[in-house]
Amino acid sequence: MRYSEYFLPTTREIPADAELASHIYCLRAGLIRKVASGIYIFLPLGMKVLQKIETIIRQEMNAKGAQEVLMPVLQPKELWEKSGRWTEYGPEMMRLRDRHERDFCLGPTHEELITSTVDAEIFSYKKLPLHLYQIQVKFRDEIRPRFGLLRGREFIMKDGYCFCRNQKELEVIYQQMYEAYARVLERCGLDYAVVEAESGIIGGEVSHEFVVLADAGESELVLCPGCGYASNAELAHFSWTTIPDREDMKEAALVETAGIKTIEALAHYLSVEPKKTIKTMLVQEGKNIFAILIRGDRELSLAKSARHLRRSIGLVEQDTLNAHPEIRMGYVGPFGLNAIPILADLELKESQNMVIGANRDNFHMVNANVGRDFQVDEWGDFTYPVWGDKCSKCANELEFKRGIEVGHIFQLGTKYSKSLGATFIDEDGQSQNFVMGCFGIGVTRLLASIIEQKHDERGIIWPVSVAPFQVIILLLNPTNNRQREAAEHLYEIFQKHGLEVLLDDRDERAGVKFTDAELLGIPFICLIGNKLEREGLVEVKIRESGDSFELPLEGVVFRIQEIMGNQERGIQVDKGDTF
Ligand code: ATP
Ligand code: MG
Repeated sequence: MRYSEYFLPTTREIPADAELASHIYCLRAGLIRKVASGIYIFLPLGMKVLQKIETIIRQEMNAKGAQEVLMPVLQPKELWEKSGRWTEYGPEMMRLRDRHERDFCLGPTHEELITSTVDAEIFSYKKLPLHLYQIQVKFRDEIRPRFGLLRGREFIMKDGYCFCRNQKELEVIYQQMYEAYARVLERCGLDYAVVEAESGIIGGEVSHEFVVLADAGESELVLCPGCGYASNAELAHFSWTTIPDREDMKEAALVETAGIKTIEALAHYLSVEPKKTIKTMLVQEGKNIFAILIRGDRELSLAKSARHLRRSIGLVEQDTLNAHPEIRMGYVGPFGLNAIPILADLELKESQNMVIGANRDNFHMVNANVGRDFQVDEWGDFTYPVWGDKCSKCANELEFKRGIEVGHIFQLGTKYSKSLGATFIDEDGQSQNFVMGCFGIGVTRLLASIIEQKHDERGIIWPVSVAPFQVIILLLNPTNNRQREAAEHLYEIFQKHGLEVLLDDRDERAGVKFTDAELLGIPFICLIGNKLEREGLVEVKIRESGDSFELPLEGVVFRIQEIMGNQERGIQVDKGDTF
């Protein structure tokens, strides 16, 4: 491709809402342009990367026997009413009406459609298991579309669904998808973690998230450098650092703490460490309140709390509190809470002589001891780990990282096959619901995640596997005939050897070309300039390492192929796959 003919508008303008590198570089390097909030056009360069990522995903899905389909974006309301999700999905679902007054949605996901399709065609266990996938646009009217492609309203996802006879069969496919997703991320050159994820509140289904490590990511992760344990921070298991010092129980007393609003202020005022305080968190499901006691210096995990309570909960709201005059906000504690169940974090079981809200205006209790001064109805695991906490499996100190969730695999069981009445006849002639799994990987989010992890202050650093071009030739002075001839010759050689090459033949200053080449992130930059004229040499710069070397024209392609080969060697690539 010749740059002079290519629709590749690079820009220095950065819109105010672009904060993350991936967002900024997607715009600056001419991969995308914004149409409306969370909605983008892919320009040719972005399209090229997108197609490479899709090819990698397709190869890995096909290798595991999944079959590609394409479902429509527009889906009739009736299907979603059957599963109960027409109302459940809420405002994130984009809805519209056709000229006959029939309701439709723009699919935020495709469980309903695929399940009803399979149900209509598959009657016997003999045709199972079946694993179908598509690469298709999804619409979700996100409350806060942001970070460019990372959280769009229209985005591309590979979503796959498997239909199995039983749990055992599902587990085999689940494991295959686990491996396939890992390979996709490895082939994209990414550093990632696989974490056990929240899998819905009711039921113990298994689910894992694939998270690309990046400081700007929205997911908080906890990793153990010792045994490799990885989890979302909100669900992480850990063992506590502080084995409480055994001390004698002291006499409890009420102290006045008027106007003290925070744990830090309370600890300071009473000259105790924050970890010697207990805070009482209130959560609610509907109008039912639950009190959860946790150590003052820790944070409540709503995900763990929901899992423990097996309910969908949120922090208590003022409306709910209005009906409970016995709750003294600011001083709330496990005293006189009437019918409100009191739960407590297991960490507090051994605690002694703690400071706790007295549930009386302007008062806390000091030297409070569980069992003596207050009672707990249920113990559980309710908090986030903090720096210094240890792995519950191997006792190494846990590490904290951030990342971007790019993939989510899920053992659904019979959730949708039951609600949609999707069945098959088993070996014994009995009607059974399909046992299902679903597997999603965000293609456009993956593209942005690669940039998020692989960039520097000058631009993108594409791994060869997904780079839009492997090589860019910079013809530094297009009016110089020798340079032009050499550049054209090199351009031909690369093409002959099956490399994707961009020839920057624009009428621009050398500095502009070099800056653009670095911004675009093409792995190998070949400079044709004075060096060529004087010594017949091409300078090749490797974008990632910044290393450069000089070679005669004819030798360049072999050297680049050699380096690419070395880079690829760590990763097994399917036959027929050109990087
Ligand atoms: P999130 O928690 O980030 O909203 P999700 O749990 O809603 O994600 P899933 O329904 O599991 O996401 O979708 C599967 C994959 O689709 C995600 O792992 C992600 O890669 C991608 N995805 C989801 N929402 C978006 C979005 N708004 N923009 C881009 N990609 C998305
Ligand atoms: Mg979401």
